[in-house]
Amino acid sequence: MATQSDSDEVRHGNENKYFDVVIKPMLTPGHEGELIEWMKDMGLIKQAVRCPCAGQRGKMVWSKARIVDKYTWVCRACSKKLSIRSESFFAGFKCDLKKVMLAILCWCNRVSGEVAAKQLDLRLTVVFRIYDSLSQVASNYVKAHSDEWKLGGENVVVLVDVYPDGYMSTVPRSMEVGRRRSTNKKRILCIAEISQIPSRIWVKILEEVSSNSKDSPEVTQRAVQEALHEITEHVLPGSILLANERSAVCPFSAVRTLKDFPMVHSVEHLKELNVPGTRAVEENLETIWQSVVDVCDESQEVRKSVGSLLLDEFLWRQLISQTTSSKVESILHQIAEQYSERWRQRRHNTA
Ligand SMILES: [Zn+2]
Repeated sequence: MATQSDSDEVRHGNENKYFDVVIKPMLTPGHEGELIEWMKDMGLIKQAVRCPCAGQRGKMVWSKARIVDKYTWVCRACSKKLSIRSESFFAGFKCDLKKVMLAILCWCNRVSGEVAAKQLDLRLTVVFRIYDSLSQVASNYVKAHSDEWKLGGENVVVLVDVYPDGYMSTVPRSMEVGRRRSTNKKRILCIAEISQIPSRIWVKILEEVSSNSKDSPEVTQRAVQEALHEITEHVLPGSILLANERSAVCPFSAVRTLKDFPMVHSVEHLKELNVPGTRAVEENLETIWQSVVDVCDESQEVRKSVGSLLLDEFLWRQLISQTTSSKVESILHQIAEQYSERWRQRRHNTA
């Protein structure tokens, strides 16, 4: 959730260097043409379009226009006009491109939709549409690059837990008294490499157990298989695993059967080391999971597809914050990459 400091960050954050240096100068009045040329060069909007009236003469020309985008594509043959945003990420947003850029900055800085709408003088629905589209781009990136989330390695400790069953938080918010209990009891597999602080985390909603409304031994069994498969996909062999017995869909007893991981410890066994009456082990686990508990909670209360998006966005932000490029720069490159790939495929299909 956004706070005042979030909105301050829109103006002062170190994260914003790329935005300040590259994009901001093009947002000043009179520089609209530069912004649009840059978007074209970046591949954020199309560099060339053809008119459906076809033929060699169907190639449309870039022309000045008295519209919000200042430019439009025009066909020399049939005079048909086409928006410069056609088929781009920017096509569906009813506001000028400068404001879309600023909304992207807000999303990167986790400014709430409400605050962004107010700051940018945009309708909330427009901001949410931009935010949702950005989450989708981030999610696509996560799905296409899941190898970047390999955790652990020889003798590195990797923690495995299932939200909300395990040791991630004492009282999951969605279970608090007085809060509407979600009818959709999602189970979220969470994996953390704890060799560094903050720990690197990978999360995923377990499909089997979260799609079935009824519990049955068969569903649980399939969920266990799914969880074990995810662990082998995302944890490097030789890691030391730490699991617990609390969750039926990923219990220690099942994790210890994985053959790539000769060392598997149980949280319950570790807890025996606690000084009687204290809960140091549990507190350490809660600290490790702190950064992901909120998003797990949030995704309990929405549709599964939306929950998956939220978790992917969490993973995306975590990865980008470990690199030197800014979130704005990364998401713009990923928008360009994903949309130009779509255009390529469409040309290929219609050729
Ligand atoms: Zn035409």
